[in-house]
Amino acid sequence: MTNHNVFTPKDMPLAAAAAVAANATLHYSYPPPRSIGGAADYAGFKKLLTQLEHRSNSGGSSGGWIGSWLDSMRASSPTHVASAAAVLTSPSLMAPCTAEYEEWMKQCPSASNKFEEITAKSKGKKIVMFLDYDGTLSPIVDDPDRAYMSEAMREAVRDVAKCFPTAIVSGRCRDKVFNFVRLAELYYAGSHGMDIRGPTKSPKNIREEKAKAILCQPASEFLPMIEEVHKVLVDKTGSIQGARVENNKFCLSVHFRCVDQKKWDALAEQVKSVLKDYPKLRLTTGRKVLEIRPTIKWDKGKALEFLLESLGYANFSDVFPVYIGDDRTDEDAFKVLRDRGQGIGILVSKVPKDTSASYSLQDPAEVMNFLRNLVEWKLRSLDDRVKV
Ligand SMILES: [Mg+2]
Repeated sequence: MTNHNVFTPKDMPLAAAAAVAANATLHYSYPPPRSIGGAADYAGFKKLLTQLEHRSNSGGSSGGWIGSWLDSMRASSPTHVASAAAVLTSPSLMAPCTAEYEEWMKQCPSASNKFEEITAKSKGKKIVMFLDYDGTLSPIVDDPDRAYMSEAMREAVRDVAKCFPTAIVSGRCRDKVFNFVRLAELYYAGSHGMDIRGPTKSPKNIREEKAKAILCQPASEFLPMIEEVHKVLVDKTGSIQGARVENNKFCLSVHFRCVDQKKWDALAEQVKSVLKDYPKLRLTTGRKVLEIRPTIKWDKGKALEFLLESLGYANFSDVFPVYIGDDRTDEDAFKVLRDRGQGIGILVSKVPKDTSASYSLQDPAEVMNFLRNLVEWKLRSLDDRVKV
Protein backbone atom coordinates (compact mmCIF):
# COMPACT_ATOMS: atom_id res chain seq x y z
CA MET A 1 0.00 0.00 0.00
CA THR A 2 1.26 3.47 -0.74
CA ASN A 3 -0.01 6.88 0.23
CA HIS A 4 -0.15 9.14 -2.77
CA ASN A 5 -1.14 12.31 -0.97
CA VAL A 6 1.76 12.43 1.39
CA PHE A 7 4.95 14.43 1.33
CA THR A 8 8.00 15.29 3.32
CA PRO A 9 8.92 18.86 4.33
CA LYS A 10 12.13 18.93 2.34
CA ASP A 11 10.33 17.92 -0.84
CA MET A 12 7.85 20.73 -0.64
CA PRO A 13 8.25 24.30 -1.88
CA LEU A 14 6.90 26.95 0.49
CA ALA A 15 3.92 27.87 -1.66
CA ALA A 16 2.97 24.23 -2.10
CA ALA A 17 3.36 23.64 1.61
CA ALA A 18 0.99 26.49 2.39
CA ALA A 19 -1.54 25.27 -0.18
CA VAL A 20 -1.52 21.73 1.08
CA ALA A 21 -1.49 22.87 4.67
CA ALA A 22 -4.72 24.72 4.11
CA ASN A 23 -6.38 21.36 3.57
CA ALA A 24 -4.40 19.42 6.10
CA THR A 25 -5.96 19.11 9.49
CA LEU A 26 -5.20 15.55 10.44
CA HIS A 27 -1.47 15.13 10.09
CA TYR A 28 1.27 16.59 12.22
CA SER A 29 4.72 17.57 11.18
CA TYR A 30 8.01 16.02 12.27
CA PRO A 31 8.07 15.84 15.21
CA PRO A 32 4.53 16.70 16.38
CA PRO A 33 3.92 20.31 17.44
CA ARG A 34 3.68 21.18 21.11
CA SER A 35 -0.01 21.77 21.00
CA ILE A 36 -2.56 19.81 19.08
CA GLY A 37 -3.44 22.52 16.63
CA GLY A 38 -4.82 22.48 13.14
CA ALA A 39 -3.84 23.84 9.79
CA ALA A 40 -2.32 26.99 11.31
CA ASP A 41 0.26 25.08 13.35
CA TYR A 42 0.94 22.80 10.45
CA ALA A 43 1.41 25.56 7.89
CA GLY A 44 3.59 27.51 10.31
CA PHE A 45 5.93 24.64 10.84
CA LYS A 46 6.16 23.85 7.14
CA LYS A 47 7.00 27.46 6.43
CA LEU A 48 9.63 27.64 9.12
CA LEU A 49 11.22 24.40 8.11
CA THR A 50 11.36 25.40 4.47
CA GLN A 51 12.92 28.75 5.40
CA LEU A 52 15.35 27.03 7.68
CA GLU A 53 16.60 24.62 5.07
CA HIS A 54 16.67 27.25 2.33
CA ARG A 55 18.65 29.70 4.43
CA SER A 56 20.98 27.03 5.70
CA ASN A 57 21.66 25.65 2.26
CA SER A 58 22.30 29.08 0.77
CA GLY A 59 24.39 30.34 3.67
CA GLY A 60 21.74 32.95 4.47
CA SER A 61 22.25 36.02 6.59
CA SER A 62 21.18 36.59 10.18
CA GLY A 63 18.37 38.80 11.44
CA GLY A 64 15.01 37.18 10.76
CA TRP A 65 16.83 33.97 10.02
CA ILE A 66 17.76 33.43 13.65
CA GLY A 67 14.15 34.03 14.64
CA SER A 68 12.96 31.46 12.09
CA TRP A 69 15.58 29.02 13.20
CA LEU A 70 14.60 29.42 16.83
CA ASP A 71 10.94 28.92 15.96
CA SER A 72 11.83 25.82 14.00
CA MET A 73 13.80 24.48 16.95
CA ARG A 74 10.72 25.02 19.12
CA ALA A 75 8.40 23.40 16.59
CA SER A 76 10.75 20.47 16.11
CA SER A 77 11.36 19.95 19.78
CA PRO A 78 8.16 19.90 21.77
CA THR A 79 8.70 20.32 25.47
CA HIS A 80 5.29 18.87 26.20
CA VAL A 81 5.45 15.66 24.26
CA ALA A 82 4.33 13.69 27.26
CA SER A 83 1.23 15.79 27.74
CA ALA A 84 0.44 15.72 24.04
CA ALA A 85 0.81 11.97 24.07
CA ALA A 86 -1.39 11.80 27.13
CA VAL A 87 -4.14 13.62 25.28
CA LEU A 88 -3.88 11.09 22.50
CA THR A 89 -3.62 8.08 24.75
CA SER A 90 -6.40 6.16 26.35
CA PRO A 91 -5.36 5.49 29.97
CA SER A 92 -7.14 2.17 30.00
CA LEU A 93 -5.93 0.74 26.73
CA MET A 94 -2.71 2.76 26.40
CA ALA A 95 -3.60 3.29 22.77
CA PRO A 96 -4.18 6.54 20.90
CA CYS A 97 -7.91 7.09 20.55
CA THR A 98 -8.74 10.44 18.96
CA ALA A 99 -10.86 10.64 15.82
CA GLU A 100 -7.86 12.20 14.05
CA TYR A 101 -5.68 9.28 15.00
CA GLU A 102 -8.27 6.78 13.83
CA GLU A 103 -8.54 8.63 10.52
CA TRP A 104 -4.76 8.59 10.13
CA MET A 105 -4.67 4.89 10.91
CA LYS A 106 -6.81 4.24 7.84
CA GLN A 107 -3.96 5.62 5.74
CA CYS A 108 -1.15 4.24 7.84
CA PRO A 109 -2.55 1.16 9.62
CA SER A 110 -0.83 -0.79 12.35
CA ALA A 111 1.76 -3.20 10.94
CA SER A 112 0.86 -5.54 13.79
CA ASN A 113 -2.82 -5.61 12.90
CA LYS A 114 -1.99 -6.00 9.21
CA PHE A 115 0.70 -8.59 9.73
CA GLU A 116 -0.92 -11.21 7.47
CA GLU A 117 -1.44 -8.62 4.75
CA ILE A 118 2.25 -7.72 4.92
CA THR A 119 3.49 -11.30 4.77
CA ALA A 120 1.11 -12.00 1.89
CA LYS A 121 2.66 -9.08 -0.01
CA SER A 122 6.11 -10.54 0.56
CA LYS A 123 5.17 -13.97 -0.77
CA GLY A 124 7.83 -15.38 -3.10
CA LYS A 125 10.17 -12.48 -2.38
CA LYS A 126 13.28 -12.04 -0.32
CA ILE A 127 12.68 -9.86 2.73
CA VAL A 128 15.50 -7.44 3.54
CA MET A 129 15.22 -5.55 6.83
CA PHE A 130 16.28 -1.94 7.43
CA LEU A 131 16.03 -0.63 10.98
CA ASP A 132 16.58 2.86 12.33
CA TYR A 133 18.07 2.93 15.85
CA ASP A 134 16.99 5.87 18.07
CA GLY A 135 13.26 5.84 18.72
CA THR A 136 12.88 2.58 16.79
CA LEU A 137 15.04 0.02 18.59
CA SER A 138 15.75 2.19 21.62
CA PRO A 139 13.67 4.78 23.47
CA ILE A 140 14.43 8.50 23.04
CA VAL A 141 16.23 9.59 26.22
CA ASP A 142 17.71 12.87 27.50
CA ASP A 143 21.30 11.72 27.26
CA PRO A 144 22.00 10.46 23.72
CA ASP A 145 24.95 8.46 25.05
CA ARG A 146 22.55 6.40 27.16
CA ALA A 147 20.09 5.43 24.42
CA TYR A 148 20.56 1.74 25.14
CA MET A 149 18.50 -0.99 23.55
CA SER A 150 17.15 -3.74 25.79
CA GLU A 151 18.60 -7.23 25.77
CA ALA A 152 15.20 -8.48 24.60
CA MET A 153 15.33 -6.13 21.63
CA ARG A 154 18.89 -7.23 20.83
CA GLU A 155 17.71 -10.82 20.85
CA ALA A 156 14.82 -9.98 18.54
CA VAL A 157 17.16 -8.20 16.08
CA ARG A 158 19.64 -11.07 16.27
CA ASP A 159 16.87 -13.53 15.39
CA VAL A 160 15.67 -11.34 12.53
CA ALA A 161 19.21 -11.24 11.13
CA LYS A 162 19.29 -15.04 11.13
CA CYS A 163 16.27 -15.05 8.84
CA PHE A 164 16.78 -11.96 6.68
CA PRO A 165 19.66 -9.69 5.64
CA THR A 166 19.39 -6.87 8.17
CA ALA A 167 20.84 -3.35 8.22
CA ILE A 168 20.83 -0.66 10.89
CA VAL A 169 20.44 2.79 9.34
CA SER A 170 21.15 5.65 11.74
CA GLY A 171 22.13 9.31 11.92
CA ARG A 172 24.76 8.39 14.46
CA CYS A 173 28.39 7.57 13.85
CA ARG A 174 28.62 3.98 12.64
CA ASP A 175 30.97 2.93 15.44
CA LYS A 176 28.69 4.41 18.06
CA VAL A 177 25.55 2.73 16.79
CA PHE A 178 27.48 -0.55 16.53
CA ASN A 179 28.49 -0.19 20.18
CA PHE A 180 24.83 0.14 21.09
CA VAL A 181 23.62 -2.79 18.98
CA ARG A 182 26.68 -5.05 19.27
CA LEU A 183 25.62 -7.53 16.58
CA ALA A 184 28.46 -8.24 14.13
CA GLU A 185 26.20 -10.05 11.68
CA LEU A 186 24.36 -6.87 10.65
CA TYR A 187 25.03 -4.22 8.03
CA TYR A 188 25.53 -0.74 9.50
CA ALA A 189 24.81 2.53 7.73
CA GLY A 190 25.87 5.39 10.03
CA SER A 191 25.91 9.17 9.58
CA HIS A 192 22.53 9.10 7.80
CA GLY A 193 23.80 6.45 5.43
CA MET A 194 27.06 8.21 4.56
CA ASP A 195 29.16 5.50 6.21
CA ILE A 196 28.17 1.94 5.28
CA ARG A 197 29.87 -1.29 6.19
CA GLY A 198 28.88 -4.93 5.81
CA PRO A 199 28.87 -7.59 8.53
CA THR A 200 32.13 -8.45 10.22
CA LYS A 201 30.65 -11.87 10.94
CA SER A 202 28.82 -13.80 8.22
CA PRO A 203 25.13 -14.10 8.98
CA LYS A 204 24.05 -17.69 9.57
CA ASN A 205 21.25 -19.51 7.79
CA ILE A 206 21.28 -17.13 4.85
CA ARG A 207 22.95 -19.11 2.14
CA GLU A 208 22.41 -16.54 -0.57
CA GLU A 209 23.90 -13.80 1.55
CA LYS A 210 26.90 -12.11 0.08
CA ALA A 211 29.42 -12.18 2.88
CA LYS A 212 31.88 -9.88 1.17
CA ALA A 213 32.67 -6.68 2.99
CA ILE A 214 30.82 -3.64 1.82
CA LEU A 215 32.15 -0.18 2.37
CA CYS A 216 30.63 3.06 1.14
CA GLN A 217 31.69 6.50 2.30
CA PRO A 218 30.38 9.00 -0.26
CA ALA A 219 31.22 12.02 1.93
CA SER A 220 34.79 11.10 2.81
CA GLU A 221 36.13 14.33 1.33
CA PHE A 222 34.20 16.20 4.04
CA LEU A 223 35.94 14.45 6.93
CA PRO A 224 38.52 17.22 7.62
CA MET A 225 35.81 19.89 7.42
CA ILE A 226 33.50 18.00 9.80
CA GLU A 227 36.38 17.53 12.22
CA GLU A 228 37.20 21.23 12.08
CA VAL A 229 33.60 22.38 12.54
CA HIS A 230 33.18 19.97 15.43
CA LYS A 231 36.05 21.58 17.30
CA VAL A 232 34.78 25.09 16.62
CA LEU A 233 31.22 24.20 17.67
CA VAL A 234 32.40 22.57 20.89
CA ASP A 235 34.30 25.76 21.68
CA LYS A 236 31.50 28.14 20.71
CA THR A 237 28.72 26.29 22.51
CA GLY A 238 30.75 25.44 25.61
CA SER A 239 29.25 28.29 27.59
CA ILE A 240 25.68 27.13 27.01
CA GLN A 241 24.79 24.71 29.76
CA GLY A 242 23.43 21.40 28.51
CA ALA A 243 24.45 21.91 24.86
CA ARG A 244 26.16 18.90 23.43
CA VAL A 245 27.98 18.56 20.11
CA GLU A 246 28.22 14.99 18.86
CA ASN A 247 30.70 14.09 16.14
CA ASN A 248 29.05 11.49 13.92
CA LYS A 249 32.10 11.34 11.67
CA PHE A 250 30.41 12.45 8.44
CA CYS A 251 27.91 14.74 10.13
CA LEU A 252 27.42 16.58 13.41
CA SER A 253 24.58 16.77 15.90
CA VAL A 254 24.06 19.69 18.26
CA HIS A 255 21.80 18.32 20.98
CA PHE A 256 19.75 20.82 22.93
CA ARG A 257 17.41 18.50 24.81
CA CYS A 258 19.16 19.47 28.07
CA VAL A 259 19.39 23.20 27.27
CA ASP A 260 17.05 25.66 28.99
CA GLN A 261 14.61 26.87 26.35
CA LYS A 262 15.57 30.48 27.18
CA LYS A 263 19.05 29.67 25.88
CA TRP A 264 17.95 28.17 22.58
CA ASP A 265 18.31 31.49 20.76
CA ALA A 266 21.86 31.89 22.05
CA LEU A 267 22.66 28.40 20.85
CA ALA A 268 21.11 29.15 17.45
CA GLU A 269 23.26 32.29 17.20
CA GLN A 270 26.42 30.37 17.98
CA VAL A 271 25.75 27.59 15.49
CA LYS A 272 24.79 30.14 12.86
CA SER A 273 27.98 32.12 13.39
CA VAL A 274 30.01 28.96 12.77
CA LEU A 275 28.09 27.67 9.77
CA LYS A 276 28.21 30.91 7.80
CA ASP A 277 31.82 30.06 7.00
CA TYR A 278 30.90 26.59 5.71
CA PRO A 279 28.42 26.87 2.83
CA LYS A 280 29.02 23.24 1.88
CA LEU A 281 27.32 22.12 5.07
CA ARG A 282 23.57 22.16 5.54
CA LEU A 283 21.38 22.17 8.58
CA THR A 284 18.21 20.29 9.41
CA THR A 285 16.24 20.01 12.62
CA GLY A 286 15.31 16.84 14.44
CA ARG A 287 13.98 15.88 17.82
CA LYS A 288 15.81 18.39 20.05
CA VAL A 289 18.80 18.22 17.79
CA LEU A 290 20.31 20.31 15.01
CA GLU A 291 21.83 18.10 12.34
CA ILE A 292 24.73 19.43 10.27
CA ARG A 293 25.78 17.45 7.23
CA PRO A 294 27.44 17.81 3.83
CA THR A 295 25.32 19.14 1.00
CA ILE A 296 25.87 16.01 -1.10
CA LYS A 297 22.77 14.20 -2.32
CA TRP A 298 23.01 11.27 0.01
CA ASP A 299 20.51 10.22 2.64
CA LYS A 300 18.91 7.14 4.19
CA GLY A 301 17.01 6.50 0.96
CA LYS A 302 20.23 6.45 -1.05
CA ALA A 303 21.79 4.18 1.56
CA LEU A 304 18.86 1.78 1.21
CA GLU A 305 19.28 1.69 -2.57
CA PHE A 306 23.03 1.22 -2.28
CA LEU A 307 22.63 -1.71 0.10
CA LEU A 308 20.01 -3.39 -2.06
CA GLU A 309 22.28 -3.18 -5.07
CA SER A 310 25.36 -4.29 -3.15
CA LEU A 311 23.49 -7.29 -1.85
CA GLY A 312 22.45 -8.20 -5.37
CA TYR A 313 18.81 -7.51 -4.58
CA ALA A 314 18.24 -4.73 -7.04
CA ASN A 315 15.96 -7.06 -9.01
CA PHE A 316 12.55 -5.51 -8.66
CA SER A 317 10.56 -8.72 -8.40
CA ASP A 318 12.78 -10.71 -6.06
CA VAL A 319 13.13 -8.49 -3.06
CA PHE A 320 10.81 -7.06 -0.40
CA PRO A 321 12.55 -4.38 1.69
CA VAL A 322 10.99 -3.55 5.06
CA TYR A 323 12.17 -0.22 6.50
CA ILE A 324 11.21 0.76 10.06
CA GLY A 325 12.00 4.25 11.39
CA ASP A 326 10.59 7.07 13.48
CA ASP A 327 12.07 10.34 12.28
CA ARG A 328 11.97 12.76 9.38
CA THR A 329 15.25 11.47 7.98
CA ASP A 330 13.63 8.04 7.59
CA GLU A 331 11.11 9.56 5.18
CA ASP A 332 13.81 9.58 2.48
CA ALA A 333 13.85 5.78 2.68
CA PHE A 334 10.06 5.50 2.88
CA LYS A 335 9.83 7.65 -0.23
CA VAL A 336 12.30 5.48 -2.15
CA LEU A 337 10.19 2.40 -1.40
CA ARG A 338 6.96 4.17 -2.27
CA ASP A 339 8.39 5.48 -5.56
CA ARG A 340 9.77 2.06 -6.46
CA GLY A 341 6.49 0.39 -5.50
CA GLN A 342 8.60 -2.09 -3.62
CA GLY A 343 8.45 -3.38 -0.05
CA ILE A 344 6.98 -1.35 2.78
CA GLY A 345 7.90 1.51 5.08
CA ILE A 346 6.76 1.38 8.69
CA LEU A 347 6.66 4.62 10.69
CA VAL A 348 7.11 4.41 14.45
CA SER A 349 4.80 7.02 15.91
CA LYS A 350 2.02 7.47 18.44
CA VAL A 351 0.66 10.55 16.74
CA PRO A 352 -0.51 11.23 13.18
CA LYS A 353 2.28 12.46 10.91
CA ASP A 354 2.73 13.16 7.23
CA THR A 355 4.56 10.15 5.95
CA SER A 356 5.41 8.10 2.91
CA ALA A 357 5.30 4.97 5.05
CA SER A 358 2.55 2.45 4.41
CA TYR A 359 2.14 1.18 7.95
CA SER A 360 2.84 2.27 11.52
CA LEU A 361 3.90 0.93 14.88
CA GLN A 362 3.54 2.93 18.08
CA ASP A 363 6.87 2.51 19.84
CA PRO A 364 9.98 0.30 20.18
CA ALA A 365 7.99 -2.27 22.18
CA GLU A 366 5.65 -2.75 19.23
CA VAL A 367 8.64 -2.87 16.88
CA MET A 368 10.08 -5.71 18.95
CA ASN A 369 6.83 -7.68 18.81
CA PHE A 370 6.63 -7.15 15.08
CA LEU A 371 10.19 -8.43 14.63
CA ARG A 372 9.43 -11.47 16.76
CA ASN A 373 6.29 -12.20 14.76
CA LEU A 374 8.25 -11.92 11.55
CA VAL A 375 10.78 -14.48 12.77
CA GLU A 376 8.04 -16.86 13.95
CA TRP A 377 6.27 -16.53 10.60
CA LYS A 378 9.50 -17.23 8.71
CA LEU A 379 10.33 -20.28 10.80
CA ARG A 380 6.76 -21.56 10.42
CA SER A 381 6.90 -21.18 6.66
CA LEU A 382 10.25 -23.01 6.51
CA ASP A 383 8.77 -25.75 8.67
CA ASP A 384 5.75 -26.07 6.37
CA ARG A 385 8.07 -26.35 3.38
CA VAL A 386 9.98 -29.19 5.00
CA LYS A 387 6.73 -31.06 5.75
CA VAL A 388 5.64 -30.73 2.14
MG1 LIG B 1 15.15 7.48 14.88
